[in-house]
Order: sequence, then C-alpha cells, then structure tokens
Amino acid sequence: MVYSERERLSREELEERQVERLRETVRRAREAVPFYAERLEEHGVSAAEIDSLDYLQTLPTTTKEDFRAEYPDGLFAVDWADVSRIHASSGTSGKPKIVSYTDDDLDVWAEVMARSLVAAGVSADDVVQNAYGYGLFTGGLGLHIGLEEIGAAVVPTGGGGTARQIEMLQDLESDVLCCTPSYCLYLAEQAEERGIDPRELPLERVVIGAEPFTDPMREEIEAALDVTAVDIYGLSEIIGPGVSIECEHAQDGLHIWEDHFLPEVVDPQTGKQLPPGEEGELVLTTLTKEALPVLRYRTGDVTALTYETCDCGRTCVRMDNVTGRTDDLLIVRGVNVYPSRIEEEIVAVDAVAPHYRIDLRRENNLDRIELTVEHHPSFDGDRDALHQRLHRRVEDALNVSLDALSVEPPGSIERTEVGKVKRVYDHR
Ligand SMILES: [Zn+2]
Repeated sequence: MVYSERERLSREELEERQVERLRETVRRAREAVPFYAERLEEHGVSAAEIDSLDYLQTLPTTTKEDFRAEYPDGLFAVDWADVSRIHASSGTSGKPKIVSYTDDDLDVWAEVMARSLVAAGVSADDVVQNAYGYGLFTGGLGLHIGLEEIGAAVVPTGGGGTARQIEMLQDLESDVLCCTPSYCLYLAEQAEERGIDPRELPLERVVIGAEPFTDPMREEIEAALDVTAVDIYGLSEIIGPGVSIECEHAQDGLHIWEDHFLPEVVDPQTGKQLPPGEEGELVLTTLTKEALPVLRYRTGDVTALTYETCDCGRTCVRMDNVTGRTDDLLIVRGVNVYPSRIEEEIVAVDAVAPHYRIDLRRENNLDRIELTVEHHPSFDGDRDALHQRLHRRVEDALNVSLDALSVEPPGSIERTEVGKVKRVYDHR
C-alpha cells in the first residue's frame, strides 16, 4: 500500500518536478537568505539557468558549521511572523542548530511522515506508542504529526519513564513502538527484569531511527521483542524524521521522498559526486521547504544510492541503512577503525549482549583502543575462552590490535534511557 501516488512517478515525471523545484528553491534562497546570496554569487549561479539536475554539482554546499555560524536565524528565508514552529538539534558542543517551519512546511512534514508510516506497515487501526523525545528534538513531534495524519491512535509517552512505557504497552495493547534502536534493547531488558517476557508484549513492529545501527543489531532487536524492525531516517536540518524509510514489503534500503528531498552521494574528502552503488557521504537539498531552504547539506551520514525500482512498486531512490558517519571514523595508530565494524562482530556472537563501549586513550604518545562488552545473561560457559574468541574475532576484523578487552557481567555498561546512545569515548 502507498500513501500517495507521488511515490510511484516515472523517473521523467519525477525529474521534471525536481528541476522545477530546485530552480525555485535556489531563487528563493538567493533572494531571501544573505548567506546563500553571497555563496551563489561566488559560484556564479543564476536560478534561471537551472534546466537539469546536472546543475546541482555547481551549487555550493551547506555544512553544520554554517548552521552554527548563522545561529540562530541567519538561514531563515521568512520573517518570524511566518514561522509556525521551531526545533533544534542538540550539538555535542556549542550552540544547537535552530530550524524553522512555516504552516506549509508542517504540511509537507505530515505528508512525508504519513508516507513513511504507511510504507512501514502502520495503519489507522494501530495503537502506536511514540517514545521519541517530545520538545525541541524533531523525533517526537515529527512522528506525532505523521501518526495523526494517517489516523493511528497515538500514545505520546515521549522518551524515558520505562516502567510506565511497559505498563502502557501492556494495558493499551500497543501494536507499534517508535524509538531509538538502543532504547528497544533497554526496554526489552527492563521488561525481563520485571519478570515480563519481552516477546510476549503486544508489539508487532518498531519504527527505529535517530542512531546508526548495523543489520546484526536490528536482528537482535527483532528477536528480543519478537517484532519487525523498520528503519526510519531523517535530520532536523532537512525536516526531521521522514526523509526516508524502509518499506515493510522489501526491507531493502530506505525510500527517499525525492520530490521533496534531492539526494546525492559524494566522496567525503573531495566532495565529488559518486555514481549509484558507491558508498560515500549523503548530501541533501530541500525542494519544497519555505522557512529554511537548504542547498546540498553535507549530512555526514555514510550510505549508497540505488535507482532500481523496489519490489514494493515505489520508484523513488533508495539509500542503504546508515551504519556510520564520516566523523565516526576513529584513527588508531594510523589505522582507520569504524565502530560499526566492531558492532557487527560483537553482536554476531551469541554469548555476548548487544551493548558495548569503546575507549580511546593516548599513553606515552601511543594510541590505545579498549573495548568493553557484556556477556549475555544466559551465558554460563567459560569466560576465558569467550574472551579469547572475541579478542581474535575483533582484531581480525579491524586490522589493529586491541589493547584491552573486558567481558563484564550483564548490566555493567551504562544504558541510555533518554536521547541518543553514546558508545565511543575518545579521551585523547
Ligand atoms: Zn520498497
């Protein structure tokens, strides 16, 4: 089932629409945002010349540093009188990125979220518990407007309060839970601690996002809660959740609603566009945003695109599940290490629980990488043998020696009840 026929446009119809909207977006950015007026001038871009998507490569990019430099409202293309909503994305350091919406932007958001939820198999018959944080974070209210749009019964529990979450799941017989992947695991664990088998909870599916995760981690979640886990993607700078989602039918890449968000994948170092199928950094241009048009935003998320029509019949481009970010890359004694590779190895070992922590230190001018994991609650085998096996496995996958590996009892690693999980601690 599709929410809108616009999910099945032919490539020609779609591109025609995209070119028209790109021209309009550039014109608008140039007229209303001094930051873009200056950049477009430097790049010698005139909106009237845009007659194909090839033109995209000549446009300037926008970065998270630009958002910070223009804080709070330097990138807005409308007056405050026309702003209907503000959200902000939490920075790990410094000021947050402030984003704004007009009434029409909120309508677009509701539409793309409705498309996403229908693709995920959520319907008006479902009771949906939304455990994404409400407030300035786009997760909670973003899911919320989409759920209202499709007429589902929304239970706006927001983040945290896990005892209450479990109680509501049971009492209201919620079919769907929306939250981060790490929270799914936390909730399953907390249910178990209360003597409730998490697989017996009424949930049929979970809509998970806001954190990168690997396929083995998804399988772990599906097994822990006995659900289908559907991956949703988005970011505040572009609109919030609802930029793309997997279809339940194929679960084979995330459909990008490209009549609203125009994607490219570029080489993170050179910024050059890469062909379909090649992995690189996702870059997105908004095509319909009024309050905050964004040209070629460097998302930092690593993915690849495929333009083949999906088994579900949707024609829009698909992106791979995001397992990492360009700034995730850890350089340890000159060797590139991606945390997602470590996650894949850990989660694939049954005796080990899907929780881990990576610590990086520098001692006597040498990098040290230390990994902490937990053994599974049901594990009662030989801890030393498990330690050896895991050590070898992770080292083989990483091409760098592990300076310390510790296998701790269940519950030793700090859990994240609210917000995004933190697994890497770089003390260097
Ligand atoms: Zn599909």
